[in-house]
Amino acid sequence: MPHLSSEMLKFMKIQVMRRVAMSSAAALAICAAALPVRAATDGDSAAIARIIDEGMNRSQAMTTASALMDRIGPRLTNSENHRKAEAWAMDLLRAQGVPTVRVEPFDFGVGWNLDSYSVAMVSPRRLPLTAIPVAWSPPTSGTVQAPVVIAPMSREEHFAEWKGKLAGKIVLVSLPGQTSESKEPVFERYTDAQLSELDTYTKPVFDPDAAAVQVRNRRFQGKLAAFLKAEGAVAMVKMSYRDGMLVHGEGYDFQPGQTLALPAIELAQEDYRRLVRLAKTGAAPEIAISVAARYDESNLRAENVVAEIPGSDPKAGYVMAGAHFDSWIAGDGASDNGAGSVTVIEAARLIAKLGVKPKRTIRFVLWSGEEQGLLGSRAYIEQHLATRPVDPSLKGYESYIAWRNAYPIKPKAEYGQLKAYFNMDNGSGRSGASTAKATWARRSC
Ligand SMILES: [Zn+2]
Repeated sequence: MPHLSSEMLKFMKIQVMRRVAMSSAAALAICAAALPVRAATDGDSAAIARIIDEGMNRSQAMTTASALMDRIGPRLTNSENHRKAEAWAMDLLRAQGVPTVRVEPFDFGVGWNLDSYSVAMVSPRRLPLTAIPVAWSPPTSGTVQAPVVIAPMSREEHFAEWKGKLAGKIVLVSLPGQTSESKEPVFERYTDAQLSELDTYTKPVFDPDAAAVQVRNRRFQGKLAAFLKAEGAVAMVKMSYRDGMLVHGEGYDFQPGQTLALPAIELAQEDYRRLVRLAKTGAAPEIAISVAARYDESNLRAENVVAEIPGSDPKAGYVMAGAHFDSWIAGDGASDNGAGSVTVIEAARLIAKLGVKPKRTIRFVLWSGEEQGLLGSRAYIEQHLATRPVDPSLKGYESYIAWRNAYPIKPKAEYGQLKAYFNMDNGSGRSGASTAKATWARRSC
């Protein structure tokens, strides 16, 4: 998972980033009340106190988290589980008294449902391997078993070396590299200077040469899979980019007609390197792969869940709180980003339950397609706030490549109504009050 905060943050200027000891729900409520440049009234203070009391003493966050993460689990965008989670979240928001709950669809791609899988070494000894199918890769036909071949390829120029040598093989396509102990601290408190740096917005500049390189890199996995398929290979295996037996299952080939040509597996670094050592020192080890996965092209549109508590002043605009609801499939999507989603749902519950009457409308959003390139929040911007010019040569690569470099923005009528946006997406790792950073983003103009 490349940890990415919502595109909303890229769109807006980050103004304040600070650790908070209170719940984000309380922080949101305080923001909603305090953003107008005026002194807080006794009514504001009383409402804030009630919100904090409810949030601290009668929180539903852990109940909501368990239902989402333990009971529903991973939420790959457009998978059956993701749609199930969205329906559950909408029911919950309504049951919590949030008056308006809807979905806002946007173009996405194919649904992919992983039912079961197993990956094991079968010779020179039997050993289960820590692995995950690459998202949107095809299923195997039952269990496939074959010797591995170590054939690192990272550019199309590498294909020639392996032509005619891969038939009937399971191809390990990554360079094994060396193990690495991270010297980076797991968590780091930003200094004021670092925070100030984050507060600086640099206007994007479109560089066609750099964009072309990015497009080539993004297309490579699909071309590699097509080459292996044409060569008669059985499956491809790539190495996880982290050690510690962590796997991710990230895949980006989810457009109709562009899914990978053969089964693809991501293997834990430790298991991958063992296979490489064995292949170098003796007969190639054999592995067996079984993947039961289903494509679903019945609905190529994904959805953001949008909920609203109306403000008392229709001219005052709105503030937003959002978190991405989707995840990859290697875990329960708990830290990334069930935690942020639960915070948004809990904030909505607190304000709805207590009958707080904010001046501004508060809009809560659970984004989809974040892991594939911030697609849900980008769609929201295009539908509500602004458009950007995209170079025609980059059609289909807007999210990661073209759109970020596109300037200037063209505001829509709603642009001026959005007054502030909170995003929560801690990414992987520990999440909670002791480590959470409340991110307060306010539009820069
Ligand atoms: Zn995330």
